[in-house]
This record gives sequence, structure tokens and C-alpha cells, in this order.
Amino acid sequence: MRNRMLMLSQVVFFILIFCLELTVAGVCSSHSEWDEMIEKYGPVPKEILEPLFGEEEEMRQNDSVVKQILRKVDFLRITRPTHMAHSCISRQDRIMHAINFYNSDNSDLYKELNPSDLVDPESPLLKGKYLESKIVNVDDNCVLRSYGDLSELGIIYCEYHGIRTAYQNSARAASEYTPKVGIQRHPELLVIWLLMLGLSSLLLVYRVVRFLRKAS
Ligand SMILES: [Zn+2]
Repeated sequence: MRNRMLMLSQVVFFILIFCLELTVAGVCSSHSEWDEMIEKYGPVPKEILEPLFGEEEEMRQNDSVVKQILRKVDFLRITRPTHMAHSCISRQDRIMHAINFYNSDNSDLYKELNPSDLVDPESPLLKGKYLESKIVNVDDNCVLRSYGDLSELGIIYCEYHGIRTAYQNSARAASEYTPKVGIQRHPELLVIWLLMLGLSSLLLVYRVVRFLRKAS
């Protein structure tokens, strides 16, 4: 019985450490990248930090309170967004991929996004077949721009949808920016979340105590 308990506690301990390492590694790596970008290219555009209709805001409007809490609790991001902002961000990924591909082939590097290059058949990206087809915006409000040098650390973002939430969070942290959306606008979400956290902690303590009593 003792051995089993020892083994179980070791497994739990290693899982916890592993999760912690994953989180820390994720935060640190993206953080230093943004620090470098800010140093090189200047302040992060406000449309990246607080887009009008980013993934976060879209989820808030479309998802139920329960689903929103599940997303907040889910730090391993098992739940995936499936909305317009997400489609816009997939297009950003496609364009970035095409630009990286172009830059690896050409000495005249593509550094700054010109939105007309995404639709003009004579543009280097379309003519060279780096983009298979022209980019059709998912929303009339979409305006794709670049921040920084695209042949280095620069990225593409949408003035309306911003960038991927996880990436945006590290941009906010590096810019020391406090977001206006999400839980800040909905304090009741924070209360429910804290309540859930408290309840689950109590349950955990109760289980451990019961387990130790049984074992001794
Ligand atoms: Zn967009």
C-alpha cells in the first residue's frame, strides 16, 4: 500500500513539474522574442494588443459563459476556436509561409506587406506561385498589415482581428499592456472561475486526506 502511494505521489509530482515546465517554456520563449521585436521595430501596434474583433472578443460574444470558463481554465488549449477571427489568422499563417518561402528563394527580400500583393496576379507572391491563389478576406473589415521586417522577426496581423490569442498574450506581457476585453469586462466570470478553483482545491485536499488515512 505504502509503495503504491509513493509511486502515485511521484507520478503526480512529475506530471505537475512537466506542466509547469511547459507553461514556463512557452511564456519565456515567446516573451523574449517580443522583447527583441519591440527593441528593433518599436512599440507593438495597438491593433495587435487590442483588436476590434480578435479571437478573444469573438469567443466572448459567441460562446456561452460555461464555454468561456472552460477556455480560461484550459491552459493546455485543448478547446479550439472555430470562428471568423480564427479563419483570418489561418490566412495570416498562409501569407507568412508564402513570404518565408519567397525569401528563401530570392536575394531581394520581401520585408513589408503590401496588401495589394495578396490579390494582384502580377505581385511577386502570386506570380512566383508562392501563394497558390489570391487571398480573399473573411470579413470586409479585414486589413492585413505587417509589423517589423518580415525577412527577420516581423509578423503579419489584421487590423480588425489582430493575431492568435496565445501570441497576443505574450505581446501584451512584453508591452506591459492591460487588456480591456475578457474577464476584465465580465467580473462575474472571475468570480465563477475562482469559485471553481476553490471547490476543486477543497476536493483535492479532501481526497488526499482520505487517501492518507486509508493508507496508514
Ligand atoms: Zn481579419
